[in-house]
Amino acid sequence: MSAQYSIIDTHVHLDFDDFDDHRAYLFKQMRAGGVNTAVLPGVSPVNWQKQIQIATEYDCLFALGFHPWYLSDHIGKDLDALSRILEKNKNNNKLVALGECGLDKLCQTPWQKQLEAFHGQISLADHYALPLMLHVVKSHGEVLSNLRSFKPKKAGVIHGFSGAPELAKAYYALGFKIGIGPLLLNANAKKLQKTVNELPLNAFVIETDLSQEPSKKPLESTNIARILHLIIDKMAKMHKKSGVLVSKQMLANSIELYNLQ
Ligand SMILES: [Zn+2]
Repeated sequence: MSAQYSIIDTHVHLDFDDFDDHRAYLFKQMRAGGVNTAVLPGVSPVNWQKQIQIATEYDCLFALGFHPWYLSDHIGKDLDALSRILEKNKNNNKLVALGECGLDKLCQTPWQKQLEAFHGQISLADHYALPLMLHVVKSHGEVLSNLRSFKPKKAGVIHGFSGAPELAKAYYALGFKIGIGPLLLNANAKKLQKTVNELPLNAFVIETDLSQEPSKKPLESTNIARILHLIIDKMAKMHKKSGVLVSKQMLANSIELYNLQ
């Protein structure tokens, strides 16, 4: 595979323990395929230090936050811990976003707790002038109404988007990017294809959201560069543009989203 594109994986969990034995290989393979850097999303305080250490060791980027799946019983205490680590890293230019946070109606975490964590993280994002990396499952109406009332200063991205064009347009109108992952490569993902067709290319960023243990999957399915190239080529075909043009646009969108220099 040629490295003709210059790409950023805007959401990939390479800090997860599952990757401990394969991380060096995956970063090498990723960069050989033209993916210059990646953003490690924050999911739980347990991972924060490891993310920071990996971002330093492999020269990549990270976000800090709480995923709705991993909230503890002490949201107030957890938000204090998040605020302390953000303060400590406020001059670390590898820290590029707050998240992944959001609302998820399919997870067990009580709704009130999810809301409390979401609101707390929006206010921390504002305080540290960071964009939000949002995880939204079956809660688009609630997330949109919260975003409209809280008006986060830096907007952000709806990662792993799978919804209809109307929803994507509503987020886009609020200044958010739409994170497109491997689902676009699924021939049955008609709603997402419609979304990619109907919005302008500057609405999107691309991601793998890779999080599974490589040894349990065929190696091809954990080739980050290959996955992102396929997504770019699919978008290019849908928008009748060249792959190079789409990859340049995705890079520019990622730089804009995460405020990279
Ligand atoms: Zn994720």
